Amino acid sequence: MPSERTSLHQQFASDNYAGVCPEALHWFLQANQSGHQPGYGEDVWTQRSTDMIRELFQTDCDVYFVFNGTAANSLALAAMCQSYHSVICTPYAHVETDECGGPEFFSNGSKLLVAEGESPAAKLGKLTPDAVEALVTRRSDIHYPKPKVVSLTQATELGTLYTVEEVRAIAAIAKRRHLKVHMDGARFANAVAALGCHPSDITWRAGVDVLCFGGTKNGLPVGEAVVFFDRALSEDFAWRVKQAGQLASKMRFISAPWVGMLENDTWLRNARHANAMAQRLYAAIRDLPGVQVLHPPQANSVFVQLPAPVIGQLYARGWKFYQFIAGGGCRLMCAWDTTPEAVDAFAADLAEAAG
Ligand SMILES: *Cc1c(COP(=O)(O)O)cnc(C)c1O
Repeated sequence: MPSERTSLHQQFASDNYAGVCPEALHWFLQANQSGHQPGYGEDVWTQRSTDMIRELFQTDCDVYFVFNGTAANSLALAAMCQSYHSVICTPYAHVETDECGGPEFFSNGSKLLVAEGESPAAKLGKLTPDAVEALVTRRSDIHYPKPKVVSLTQATELGTLYTVEEVRAIAAIAKRRHLKVHMDGARFANAVAALGCHPSDITWRAGVDVLCFGGTKNGLPVGEAVVFFDRALSEDFAWRVKQAGQLASKMRFISAPWVGMLENDTWLRNARHANAMAQRLYAAIRDLPGVQVLHPPQANSVFVQLPAPVIGQLYARGWKFYQFIAGGGCRLMCAWDTTPEAVDAFAADLAEAAG
């Protein structure tokens, strides 16, 4: 790896490559300095961060902390489904493509129903009311798993956003068809920052029943919050979390960093920065020869089609990024700590390789 790259220590492969933000680390250390505390979530930090999440969403929701997003999604969906139910999602959904069958496993067999389709929204990784309606009405016989949940990812796996109106429209169909609405919010912060709406407007006020509120990609060391706006769905959820091996013994080290995330809107500041870096990258590479940006970035990632030799040259220069997304597109992901210098260095190397 060339030396300048080593000194930058930054990549565009995943927002998980980034470390812990100072605010989260501060409260992690505060929790460690506060002496002995009860385990398993009975501590003051878990109480405090849970209350802060309730204040943030302006509602009396139930909140559970788990280690990662796969567990958050899998356990939330398991709580919303019986084994004979099904979950509607897109072909790109993380629950479908990247959780190793976790949702099916933890629900004892609930099937994921993937919405096919070539609509503009589908190409942007989004569900539509029509796609949901088509799947719900396709079969109603006893030989087919009964649709029970619509799962939306916000921001989507393709770095696009559902507007408040779009979430409302899908939730309205869901309500009419007696489905619950789950939101995979691994990048919820990036979505709220980009939309400029209140977090409640894009969740429970729009009809979302359960949100998996991601913190890790936005600057936490570890830990996602499962937020139940429909509190009836969280019955016995604590036991589900424990059985799945997701109940942190020293829970305070997951929950205390959330205080730093929520205090003074650090979560939004981090997300706004990551989003801005994606815009900077987009502006720097969109007009380069041979570079085809698949769609304008809306959150913190840029998806581009690059000629194979160009990809090879970037890899040879030590850059890391994924290219497993549909159509062979390369995903360039920005994080809370991505520097303008790293963006500019990548763009310069890309310009040289493409030129
Ligand atoms: C990263 C991510 C998750 C969570 O993944 P973990 O690696 O299990 O934390 C969930 N959904 C989406 C869309 C993601 O990008």
